[in-house]
Amino acid sequence: MVTTVILGMLCVYLLCFSLMFLLISTRLNGKKMGMEIFALGNLLLGLAYILQLFGGPPDEGPMSVINHTMTLSAPVVYVLGAMRFFERPTLVLSPLLILAAGYTVLQLLVQWLLGVEVRHAMLAAACASLFLAMTVAVLYGCRTFARDLRVEMLVFAVLIGGICILNAMKFGMILKGGLAALDMNSGFQKIFYLYMSFLATVLPPSVVWLVLRRLTDELRNLAAHDPLTQLLNRRGLMDALDAHFRSRTAVPAYLLIVDIDHFKRINDTHGHKAGDRVLSHVAGTLKATARQGDLVCRLGGEEFVVIALDTDSAGALQLAERMRVAIEHSEVAGAELSKPIRCTATLGGSGAFTRAQDFDAYLQQADAALYRGKMHGRNRVEWSGSRGTGLGLGAMDTFGQ
Ligand code: GH3
Ligand code: MG
Ligand code: MG
Repeated sequence: MVTTVILGMLCVYLLCFSLMFLLISTRLNGKKMGMEIFALGNLLLGLAYILQLFGGPPDEGPMSVINHTMTLSAPVVYVLGAMRFFERPTLVLSPLLILAAGYTVLQLLVQWLLGVEVRHAMLAAACASLFLAMTVAVLYGCRTFARDLRVEMLVFAVLIGGICILNAMKFGMILKGGLAALDMNSGFQKIFYLYMSFLATVLPPSVVWLVLRRLTDELRNLAAHDPLTQLLNRRGLMDALDAHFRSRTAVPAYLLIVDIDHFKRINDTHGHKAGDRVLSHVAGTLKATARQGDLVCRLGGEEFVVIALDTDSAGALQLAERMRVAIEHSEVAGAELSKPIRCTATLGGSGAFTRAQDFDAYLQQADAALYRGKMHGRNRVEWSGSRGTGLGLGAMDTFGQ
């Protein structure tokens, strides 16, 4: 009786969370993160347990065969949902139909050749093996595809490992005691379904938590980056600078401002779309020229800011000059028959600063240097409080701070 009540509650949980997953998936336009697949998994398991609830004691009838097929299919569907969550594109319907048809035929064969007990034992063994593989995959995920969700993955591994052990025990008990081991009033079945109820209560909110984490991470990422160039935007740069200066090993930062020369002309001559391509190209050039760990940001329009870290004034000036030359020598494809587009940029630099609050003051200094660079003919590096390196010909070491 107690087990029947637990099983009834389990069905209610599974079906309610199936509906909740489905509702969440309708709100996730485009990227559903596997939620509709998790809804299907819960539905299959819920229906399997309803069959068990109303199907009476384990027997060899068609309901029992369908029940086993659905019981085995559900965790496979969860795996497919998890693959979608981790952005591994996968088919769902065809593997599921092949599995369902294959396992149904296998059950009929096994029952005909070896008897009904072996068919029940086979389900327990198949579930134990599947959950074991899932536990290993989740543990592997802690170090690879789900490194950012290590704690969550460890909790999942423990929970799935538990159901693996219970299925392995069930397998052994059926082999030893036959179908009597599946008696709903036995202590083992009580513990089995209690554990399943616990999982059905704990796992769905955990999945919702993972989806929320993913969504908030994506929102934070969107808020910190420029959509055209994928560089940091001003807000992202300020957050990154804050984080840098908060660390105990923070080194001084050098600020460079990069402004594409006569960009309006590029737009006017080649069109706004080509202008966008030039912006993306320059962004890529800056990113490729900067060192790993330097911060590259699109401040707005055709202006970029580079924060050079872990260097000195001579290094920052060399970086600026490398960027100027790289931009000058690069080409962007024009419209169909037109020639490739070339552009240059003027760079203004300012001295080292050690607090994020000083960013605006140093940006102003760099902007004043940039303005001088524009006045002196463009395509040059100008440092605050010094003369510039026109067309890369100037003596660079005289311009350090
Ligand atoms: P200077 O050499 O003095 O810097 O001249 P400039 O033409 O580069 O500077 P100006 O400030 O006169 O023009 C900047 C242009 O950048 C004007 C604006 O239409 C264009 N612009 C701003 N944002 C975007 C964008 O996202 N895409 C494109 N294609 N153009 C943009
Ligand atoms: Mg410009
Ligand atoms: Mg400008």
